[in-house]
Amino acid sequence: MNLHEYQGKEIFAKYDLPVSKGKVVRSVSEVKQACNEIGGNRWVAKAQVHAGGRGKSGGVALCDTVEEVSDFAKRWIGQKLVTYQTNKNGQLVNCILIEECTDIADELYYSAVVDRSSKEVAIIASSEGGVNIEKVAEESPEKIVSINLDGNNISIDDLEKICSTLELNDSQSSQMKNIVKKTISMFFECDLSLLEINPLVIKQDGNLHCLDAKINIDSNALFRQKDLHQMHDPTQEDPRESEAAKYDLSYVSLDGNIGCMVNGAGLAMGTMDTIKFFNGNPANFLDVGGTATQERVAKAFKIILADPEVKVVLVNIFGGIVRCDLIAEGIVAAIDEVEVEIPVVVRLEGNNAEKGLSILSKSSTKIQSANSLEEAARTAVELAK
Ligand code: GDP
Ligand code: MG
Repeated sequence: MNLHEYQGKEIFAKYDLPVSKGKVVRSVSEVKQACNEIGGNRWVAKAQVHAGGRGKSGGVALCDTVEEVSDFAKRWIGQKLVTYQTNKNGQLVNCILIEECTDIADELYYSAVVDRSSKEVAIIASSEGGVNIEKVAEESPEKIVSINLDGNNISIDDLEKICSTLELNDSQSSQMKNIVKKTISMFFECDLSLLEINPLVIKQDGNLHCLDAKINIDSNALFRQKDLHQMHDPTQEDPRESEAAKYDLSYVSLDGNIGCMVNGAGLAMGTMDTIKFFNGNPANFLDVGGTATQERVAKAFKIILADPEVKVVLVNIFGGIVRCDLIAEGIVAAIDEVEVEIPVVVRLEGNNAEKGLSILSKSSTKIQSANSLEEAARTAVELAK
């Protein structure tokens, strides 16, 4: 689950990390009072969406007057912001974070992330901040330090290594060590999967400051993170993905036109690859899971068909735990229930596959059964043309 920048910074403040004084506004009428309460005579206005790259897309503005902040709020509240991290439709802006403007001397990069390969948390820092870290990794890897933690511990040597890579002086180094320790506590206590501060800045006065906050919480831990769970903002998600999550279906929408319904994440990936191999484009990833019951298959059809781009549905089920005849009955019933109008290509393999295929062949003409994944994918690609 992702958080907005302002929510991430609220948690930063609880952990005593240095953040700017700020206020969130949800309408233009709140801007003046917010600026007054923040004080000063220069503000930064930031559109709140679950995506970075706002700075380069007009979603962050430095403002010298309250009017400029109001104009920014008028421009963005209720609109969609498109950045290189959003899809082409953009993300809805419901609120604006207004902060006192920070005078920046230098922009650094800092993050903590779960490193799946080593099953540890990695701390990544770079003297090159405010830019795409992947680009820095490609072009100047020497400017990045990456350290794997031992549990939630970091050694003194590793802390020193971070400070020297960031080229910090003594006072900044002691601030940095504090930031590292506090973010590690936060990472574990809040069950995060990502904590990114980009940029972490050196202010004109020499002190370190967290200018941005990107937080991802491990969704599997939300049951024990009730306060964080309440920060969930469904307006930032694809409605089809949220709907699927309610039924425990793993669904990710993509931009092709072949709807996919598969049991098992690996098989789903293989199905998408095979479609691509035959020059087709999957409209989604969808794993109906091991218990592909009629109800779930029907729900999955509804979600796939809610995408107007979908021209054909490819069902690829491997009967390992489930029986293909039961699945076939489920598919037939679900197609009737949902009134599927487009062609459906089905490949069944495994337990009682033949029985399943005979059930399909006796049913609706919209179903075309295939004997292999290759044949199914080729047929679906042909039908989607
Ligand atoms: P992102 O583009 O979505 O990652 O948004 P950021 O919060 O990282 O802001 C983008 C850029 O705006 C930063 O890299 C800074 O250069 C600039 N910026 C943000 N806040 C301030 C501020 O308080 N003062 C100044 N001078 N620049 C800021
Ligand atoms: Mg940023």
